[in-house]
Amino acid sequence: MKIIIRFITSLFIVFDYYKKENSMSMQEFDYEKLNLKCGLEIHQQLDTEKKLFCRCPAKLQGTREPDFTINRKMRPVLGELGSYDKAMLTEYEKGMGITYEGYNDVVCTYELDDTPPFSCNSEARSVALQIAMLLNAKIIEEMHVCRKNYLDGSVPSGFQRTMILGTDGYVTLENGKKIRIDILSLEEEAARKIKTENKTNFFRLDRLGIPLVEVTTKPDINTPNECRECAERIGLLLWSTNVKKVLGSIRQDVNVSIEGGTRIEIKGVQKLGWIPVLINHEISRQLGLLEIKKALEKRKLDEKDIPNKPIDLTDSLIKTKSNFIAKGIKSGKKLYGINFIGFKDLFKKELMEDYRFGTEVSNKVKLISGLKGIIHSDEDLSKYDLADDDLKKIKEKLETKKEDCFVLVLGSLKDANKAMDVIINRVKFAFKGVPPETRRALENGNTEFLRELHGGARLYPDTDSETIFNYEEEVNEIRKTLPEYPWITIKKYSKKYKTEERIIKDLIFTGRLILFDNLIKLYPDNPSLVFTTLLETTTALRREGKNIENITDDDFFQIYTLLKQNEISKEAIEELMSLKADSPELSIDQIKKKLKIESISVDDLKKLINEIIKNNLNLIKEKEMRAKGPLMGEVMKKVRGKIDGAVVSKELENSIIETLKEMK
Ligand SMILES: [Zn+2]
Repeated sequence: MKIIIRFITSLFIVFDYYKKENSMSMQEFDYEKLNLKCGLEIHQQLDTEKKLFCRCPAKLQGTREPDFTINRKMRPVLGELGSYDKAMLTEYEKGMGITYEGYNDVVCTYELDDTPPFSCNSEARSVALQIAMLLNAKIIEEMHVCRKNYLDGSVPSGFQRTMILGTDGYVTLENGKKIRIDILSLEEEAARKIKTENKTNFFRLDRLGIPLVEVTTKPDINTPNECRECAERIGLLLWSTNVKKVLGSIRQDVNVSIEGGTRIEIKGVQKLGWIPVLINHEISRQLGLLEIKKALEKRKLDEKDIPNKPIDLTDSLIKTKSNFIAKGIKSGKKLYGINFIGFKDLFKKELMEDYRFGTEVSNKVKLISGLKGIIHSDEDLSKYDLADDDLKKIKEKLETKKEDCFVLVLGSLKDANKAMDVIINRVKFAFKGVPPETRRALENGNTEFLRELHGGARLYPDTDSETIFNYEEEVNEIRKTLPEYPWITIKKYSKKYKTEERIIKDLIFTGRLILFDNLIKLYPDNPSLVFTTLLETTTALRREGKNIENITDDDFFQIYTLLKQNEISKEAIEELMSLKADSPELSIDQIKKKLKIESISVDDLKKLINEIIKNNLNLIKEKEMRAKGPLMGEVMKKVRGKIDGAVVSKELENSIIETLKEMK
């Protein structure tokens, strides 16, 4: 018996362990030994009335249908030194078309690059100056507007206007460590990408030109958690000034490098919580690529052994048993193959979870050539229905030996050639280690290739703009308006209202701290109720699919006014919010009438309780005080939302005690 129990417990331990491994897929590392260096680049939209370099309103239009569309194509041009930018060529090779969608009242000819810039928005400059001062940065007195190349089509002119406003600042972490701020720039937001369809990227121009600050740190961050904290602190600091406080108005990029690896830029980190996972996965990927490099050295292989051209297998495989290859060839596609000497097992080397070297090559092929993927001999080839005879022909043609790995692609002549170029170049880089890239953050903590890392010199002077001055007197005036550091605010609030710091942080990151202040002034009796309304209830309703944006600050104020005047009970708040989210056209008073929310006086409550007790005397006789539970349910059925549950409970208890006394 004992043995069986033991066996069962150990099974549970194994099961638990397995579960843990699965749910916490994040592997951790010795960051000091790896010499991990991370830096952050944080972008934040400012909440100004107008755009940065024109007078169009800085308002996003949501799902509103656009008034006009414009089609364009980007083409690379030679740089001043007579060469093409590599990242630009890669972008051009994708062969994507661009459609811009605009609104007559939100977009002018400036955004379309048909009119030179207007003067810089001084409201935006003031906010940016505040941020620079909060980051302890040196203010640049004489700012020069520059052009920063944008290759993905998100800016119609191909460049964004940007100016460096502050340098050499720092932000302090909780433990006192200072993370240096490299630069703070004031710049224009790019257009927002709506979709990609038929090799065309669709961009909405409403977002283009909205003022944005970019904060870049030095690579002083040495652990994933430190990186998360630093991003949070900079975020809090930005949100203590006049910035747009909505989802998506702040974006984080993280760059990661380890000893022997390369600086990799990870774009589009949407949540702070993703940061540690993304960094750990990136470390794992870089370590994996370094292991491949080592394996290649050990196998005494050389980059020169990589063929420069693929071999056309189309004719040899014309009678293949594989359905999809036969179909492809029939429709005019080419089957190309290439043999990598000594590469056996390297394509299946796992770099991150569910991500092998083969995935890395295949992802890049997909993005650049548009092909669905690659076939390689390290994977199970049976899923492609290739017969032994097919394989024999392929290996013969490619001269593949046991220790080699071959790769196939199927596509139009142009796509197959492009794909093979990508494969050859990527495999060649395996000898060097980690290729410098900009990668996109994915929700599972992995990343995928987005584009080549931009060359260093992306900035050119903007010949259309005049110099902008930040005069000392002006800077000193703004210095007087600086808000308190948010982490001090958080500590104060959490102490004053006896709540966790996390709650105050959430209030700041939902942009509701000021609303909280206003509600608590009106209704100081119950801070925890105000927290619940603004955070938990809101989140719960959003999860139910309610459009919370329809509840304005004024609506919250109306609700709490009714509560203050005892017109409603706190139980009615959620219902009012829910209906307001559904029917934004109704006022809170109208909703209250619609829901027939009336308050009930304590006297009326007592009458109701007495009536219910009269009908349940037997229950009270039998259960005595334990009758309170079921009776409470019955009373609440009639008064829910009309009076505070705590008052009902107290009154009911008193009445039962009275009744019991009378019975004796
Ligand atoms: Zn405009």
